[in-house]
Amino acid sequence: MDIISHGLYGWVVFGNKNKKQFRLSAAFGVLPDFLAFGFPFAVGIIAMLSWDGNMFSGWYHTQPNYIHYIYNVTHSLITWAVVFGALRLIYKKPVKASFAWLLHILIDIPTHSLAFFATPFLRPISNYRFNGIAWSNRVIFIPNLIVLAILYSIYFYKKYRKNYIHN
Ligand SMILES: [Zn+2]
Repeated sequence: MDIISHGLYGWVVFGNKNKKQFRLSAAFGVLPDFLAFGFPFAVGIIAMLSWDGNMFSGWYHTQPNYIHYIYNVTHSLITWAVVFGALRLIYKKPVKASFAWLLHILIDIPTHSLAFFATPFLRPISNYRFNGIAWSNRVIFIPNLIVLAILYSIYFYKKYRKNYIHN
């Protein structure tokens, strides 16, 4: 799924307690893609500015293989379980917002095809990847917008009820 939807899902599903939870859940929701693409993106921007006259030559020269490596690590259920366990030990309770990361992986499994970043959810135990339908396909993209609209309508409706009706 696209990174904005991931953030919105993390936010609405796990961050509905308070502002801090909200931000933390959205952050965990985008983290797997942010770690894989954020750094190369930043490097690409800097390279674009400092390269010769050609804006895009810098960008192309800095598209590294490690994107795939980071992507494989951040999109594995095993990595998530290890981080979840570590956070649990540190904070002595499950960190609810980190479930947004789990949700990210679960959403990515059916919404990526083998042609574009299929989700390596069992790495490093297995390299199996499910051949789903790309999220950019309208049969995924439009229902995704509808589901998000429904979730946020419920969220704001509940918030409205709490603030204005039950006071
Ligand atoms: Zn992803």
